[in-house]
Amino acid sequence: MSSPSETLFARALQLIPGGVNSPVRAFRSVGGAPFFTKAARGATLITADDRELIDFVCTWGPAIHGHNHPRIKAAIAAALENGTSFGTPNPYEVEMAELIVKFFPSIQKVRMCNSGTEATMSAIRLARGFTKRDKIIKFAGCYHGHSDSLLIKAGSGALTHGHPDSAGIPAAFAQETVVLPYNDTAAIDAAFAANPGKIACIILEPYIGNVGFIKPDAGYHQHLRKACTAHGALLIFDEVMTGFRLARGGVQELEKIIPDLTCLGKIIGGGLPVGAFGGRADIMDYLAPLGPVYQAGTLSGNPLAMAAGIASLKLIDELNPYAKLDTLGRQVCTAALAAAQSKGLPLQAPQVGSMFSLFFTPTPVRDYDTALTSDAKLFGRFFRACLDGGVYLPPSAYESWFLSTAHEGAAIDRACEVISSAIKSL
Ligand SMILES: *Cc1c(COP(=O)(O)O)cnc(C)c1O
Repeated sequence: MSSPSETLFARALQLIPGGVNSPVRAFRSVGGAPFFTKAARGATLITADDRELIDFVCTWGPAIHGHNHPRIKAAIAAALENGTSFGTPNPYEVEMAELIVKFFPSIQKVRMCNSGTEATMSAIRLARGFTKRDKIIKFAGCYHGHSDSLLIKAGSGALTHGHPDSAGIPAAFAQETVVLPYNDTAAIDAAFAANPGKIACIILEPYIGNVGFIKPDAGYHQHLRKACTAHGALLIFDEVMTGFRLARGGVQELEKIIPDLTCLGKIIGGGLPVGAFGGRADIMDYLAPLGPVYQAGTLSGNPLAMAAGIASLKLIDELNPYAKLDTLGRQVCTAALAAAQSKGLPLQAPQVGSMFSLFFTPTPVRDYDTALTSDAKLFGRFFRACLDGGVYLPPSAYESWFLSTAHEGAAIDRACEVISSAIKSL
């Protein structure tokens, strides 16, 4: 007899490529088939098979308050009374813009869109239109969504499933994207020297979450900021993952950097589809209808999505959850490192707040190449041992884990026990 998840997956495979609507959800790199989730609350997923799993994916970042938070649910329900989409400006959009600008001092004006992919794609177009230059710099392993200019040496599912350079991207497009190793200041200087007056922008995940979690070296961001200013290029922080997750003002608040443009998503949608990009007013005013760079969206600023996002950001403002999240993150990494040490297993556990990864490698991880030294096969066995014990990790050795405020208490203690014994069983 097949389980409900097995039956659903068999049906999905007939009609949906790989059975999934986003490749990161597939289990191909860890083995087995994905389970289906029928409900989620707090730190827990409830599967179609009636299993309860402690969730370290948190819908890939947005669920910082835990799943199905009552305040967010109530905000969506209240907005729903008034309609689902108007096709005109609505009051929620203004409140959302005010909240974003309040927390991100580098953002003077902001435009809402429907996904992180749209945010980065539009920010790149804006940077090119504003500087009247074509080339962009990105870093190996950084994932910025799935638009053509950015799916080159990309992380996340593109890397997990063996296609960091996607098929279907014309060579002429790829030539306009200069890919550099992260944490390498000499490579930045060389790229600007080799392309004088041609680089429109540098885009980066200021802390990388999409090749596993990686922090920059001290002074690295300052170097990028100085190089962009010196060469007339824009600095774009893709904080779709880190924005509101590590601090109210994102990594730029932690590192005291003022980028020219910032991309947001995930948490600002409170679990509904939302993206945003914003920054210096003189740059943002290059967007239509004021300026010549076109960007649009039928459902952009959707009232339900704005209501969910506003509730999520207000909760963050009230709770200031970052110290608590950091304690929880440290608890998991400390438990994992202790278990690995007792077993003599090399393990790296970089962590900031509620983002971290476990890399099974003796090599400190500081870029794409060193991330790839981690033992992905071993990670697959570790993943399955955790799942058997009721803990759901990202199904890839190259993803950040996420925590929510709902992971406190018994949930985190139980998760640490399962993770430790899974490591000892390897
Ligand atoms: C998730 C992510 C994106 C893409 O966002 P989508 O909403 O999935 O399109 C872009 N950049 C970063 C850093 C991300 O983590």
